[in-house]
Amino acid sequence: MAEKHRSLRESILYNDLVAILGVENVSRDEVERQAYIGDVSFLGMVMPRHNMEVDRPDFIVWPTSTEQVSEVLKAANTHKIPVTPYCGGAGVQGAAVPMFGGIVMDVKKMDKILEIDETNLMVTCQTGLIGQALEWALNAKGYTYAHIPQSTYCSGIGGFLAGHSAGVLSTKYGKIASMVLGMEVVLPDGRVMRTRAVPQSAAGPNLNHLFIGSEGTLGVITEATMIIHPLPELREFRSFLYPNLHSAFEAARKIMRRGLLPGTLRISDEEESKELYKQEGAFMTISYDGFEELVKLQHRETMKIALEENAVDIGSAPGDRWWNRRFSSVYPKDNGNPLDMGRHTLNVGNVIESAGSFTYLEAAHRELRRTLLKIPGQTFMAHFSHWYKTGGMMYPYCVNSGAASEEEMVDRYFRMHRAAVEVIHRLGGTMTHHHGVGLSLRGFMREEFGESFEMLQSIKRTLDPNNIMNPGKLGFDWR
Ligand SMILES: Cc1cc2nc3c(=O)[nH]c(=O)nc-3n(C[C@H](O)[C@H](O)[C@H](O)COP(=O)(O)OP(=O)(O)OC[C@H]3O[C@@H](n4cnc5c(N)ncnc54)[C@H](O)[C@@H]3O)c2cc1C
Repeated sequence: MAEKHRSLRESILYNDLVAILGVENVSRDEVERQAYIGDVSFLGMVMPRHNMEVDRPDFIVWPTSTEQVSEVLKAANTHKIPVTPYCGGAGVQGAAVPMFGGIVMDVKKMDKILEIDETNLMVTCQTGLIGQALEWALNAKGYTYAHIPQSTYCSGIGGFLAGHSAGVLSTKYGKIASMVLGMEVVLPDGRVMRTRAVPQSAAGPNLNHLFIGSEGTLGVITEATMIIHPLPELREFRSFLYPNLHSAFEAARKIMRRGLLPGTLRISDEEESKELYKQEGAFMTISYDGFEELVKLQHRETMKIALEENAVDIGSAPGDRWWNRRFSSVYPKDNGNPLDMGRHTLNVGNVIESAGSFTYLEAAHRELRRTLLKIPGQTFMAHFSHWYKTGGMMYPYCVNSGAASEEEMVDRYFRMHRAAVEVIHRLGGTMTHHHGVGLSLRGFMREEFGESFEMLQSIKRTLDPNNIMNPGKLGFDWR
C-alpha cells in the first residue's frame, strides 16, 4: 500500500515538474538517475555501489530561469521531497550526492552572462555557468575574474559559491567569498532574495556569507555579481629550492609580512619535492602579475628573502611549465579520478586539506605525517598553496594502497579522516580550506563549530523547516 502511495505521489510530482519546466527539462530515465547519483568524490562513487546510505534521485531537472527554480522548490516543499542542487558535479567531498533521492536540480542550463560592467569592474551571471566559459568571455574583452581553480573546466559558479572554492591565484585575488559582491538566492519555500552588489556595506551582517559554503542546504544560488580585473600586463614565475620545509615556510612568512602580493605561492614538502621535481629540499614556485615594474620589484624583494633563507634560484622554467600544463595532469582519463583508482587497483588517493596560522602549519604537517603513516598502506606528501598574512593552507595528498577489499578501503578512508581531523582540531586548524564538508567531513561539524553549531542548525531549521534542501549535509540533522 505504501509503495502504491509513493508511486502516486511521484507521478503527481512528475506532472507538476513537467508543467513548470517542460517535458524536455525533467527526466526520470534510469541511466540519468544513475549518472546523477554521485560527484567525483571517493565516497560519492563508492557509496552508491555498496548501497551505503544513498538513494538514487527520482528526478533530474534542468531549470532555465530563477522563476522556474522558485516554482520547483515550491512544489518540492509541498510534497516534502528532497532537492539537491548540482552544478559541475566535480566536488571532491560528496556534497552533491543526493543521499535521500528526490530531485537533483542541475543548474547548468542557467549559464547566461547577464552584464559585463567595464566601468565598475563587475560581471553578473547565472550560476550554472562553467568557470572557464566565464573566464574566456572576460578574456575576450581584456578582463579576468581571477578565480582559476584546477577544476575551472568542469565546475561552475554555483558550485564555487556553495562550496567556498579557492583558485590557484587566491593569495592575491582571494577565495570566491571575497570576489562576490551580490547574489540572488531562491530560498527553500520558493521566495527569491537578493543582496546588494556594492563594494561594502555596514547595514548589518552580510547575508552573502550565509550562502557561501552552504553546500545547497539553504537554497539555490541563481545569480552572482563578481569583481573583475583588467588582464595583467605581465605574469612572471620564479622557483627556489630551500634546504628544508622550515626555511621555505620562513620565506613565505616574510613574503606575506612584507606586503608582497604573489598570485601563486606554492611550496612542496620534502616528499613532494622529491616526487615531482626530483630535488632534495623544499621546492617553492612563486608568481607575480600586474604592471611590469611592480612585478619586477616584487620578484627582486622575494629573491632577497629567498637568499636569506639559503635557497637556490632555479629560474622561471618550472613555474612556466606548471602554469602552462596545470590542467593537463588533471583531465586525462584514468588520472585524478578517484573511482578509476578505486576500481582498478584498490588504491584511494585522498586529500585532507586544512588551514591555520604559520605556527600551526608547521606543527600540523609534522603531526599529521606521523599519525597518518601509522595507517597500513598509507603514503603522505603535501603542498602549501594559498597564503595569508596570518598563515596558509596545507594540502596533504595521501594514497592508501593494498586494501584487500573495497570495504577495507572505505574503512581505512574513514580511519584516516578521523585521525586527521583529531590532529587538525587539537592543533587549532580548520578541517577544510576550500574543498568543503560533503559526506567526508559532515560527522565532524559539531567539533569544528563547537557551541555555535546549534546556531547554524537553527538557521537551517528556520529557512528550511521541511529539510528539503540537500538533507544530510553540513552535519545538519538528517530528517
Ligand atoms: C580535478 C579537480 C580539481 C579541483 N581543483 C579545485 C581547486 O583548485 N580549488 C577548489 O576550490 N576546488 C577544486 N576542486 C573541487 C571542486 O571543483 C570544487 O569543490 C567546486 O566548487 C565544485 O563545483 P561544482 O560546480 O563541480 O559543484 P558541484 O559538485 O555540482 O556541487 C558542489 C556543492 O554545491 C552545491 N551547489 C551547486 N550549485 C549550487 C547552486 N547554484 N546553489 C546552491 N548550491 C549549489 C551542491 O549541492 C553541492 O553541495 C577540484 C575538483 C576536481 C575534480
